[in-house]
Amino acid sequence: MNNEYLAREITRLKRERGAVVLAHNYMDYGIQVIADFVGDSYDLALRAMETGAEVIVFAGVRFMAEQAKALNYNRVVLAPEPNAGCTIADVLDAETLRRVREAYPSTPVVLYVNSNADAKALADYIVTSSTAVRVVKRLRSDVVIFGPDNNLADYVAHMTGKKIIKVPPNGRCVVHGNYTTDMVSEARARYPRARVMIHPESPPEVSRLADFVGSTNQMIDYASRDSSMEFVVGTEVGMLNALKIKVPGKVFHPLSTGPYARCPFMAMITLEKVYRSLRDFVHEIEVPKSTAEAIKEAFERTRKLLEG
Ligand code: SF4
Repeated sequence: MNNEYLAREITRLKRERGAVVLAHNYMDYGIQVIADFVGDSYDLALRAMETGAEVIVFAGVRFMAEQAKALNYNRVVLAPEPNAGCTIADVLDAETLRRVREAYPSTPVVLYVNSNADAKALADYIVTSSTAVRVVKRLRSDVVIFGPDNNLADYVAHMTGKKIIKVPPNGRCVVHGNYTTDMVSEARARYPRARVMIHPESPPEVSRLADFVGSTNQMIDYASRDSSMEFVVGTEVGMLNALKIKVPGKVFHPLSTGPYARCPFMAMITLEKVYRSLRDFVHEIEVPKSTAEAIKEAFERTRKLLEG
């Protein structure tokens, strides 16, 4: 089945089934162009809450689809590839978080959106890489429990000056966690006119070398606004598809083209799987009602803190 056929069929099935496709910025080009909305995990979570569609096909990894289900409990959420995990989310289990909560009962728990539903349900606040620093800054407490990404925790500690209790201390993205300072030096030598953008899941010594540190959506904003015409993109290579669509006319180079350039979990989601998901109504994501309610409460609490 070629992409043209798949795109046509997906459009037809979306209409027939009253469905929308939400796609992460890291998805293949073919998925991004048929999606109703493309964004980072925070954006997609908001869109999932706002959409009136009965069916949401979530082209992203599993924790994202779980979150969409939690925020839209009465809607059908389909994951084209239910086995697409995340090395950050999968490192934290609910029991570990429960024990840390009990050890520090009056300390707020801030979880990165890259966490699985059972752990996320125990969070006071749920953040993304674009909101983590703002949320932690606004909390009254000078000590915060934060997880599960180790590098983002360091970045938040550096930007807020607060004491961060990491849970666990070793969460790491398979892509950003493997970036090195040599990669940045080589990219600067090869593209001397380019601005370097780095995702905050990268090691702090790598982020320190960047012209800009931010989430995928923040990178899109930065690349649109900045006067430079050329950028090195320090995040998963699927992001080049989003930049090509949203910031036309500028030139983007991946920071890495090596084995850590493409997330193996994001790569599991293909246009054909999106099509099969809509055609066969698979794979429906379920989360317990109490888990969904706790996630929704944490999400709303976070939204109020950011808007307050
Ligand atoms: S790119 Fe990193 S953070 Fe994103 S899904 Fe893959 S492993 Fe998880």
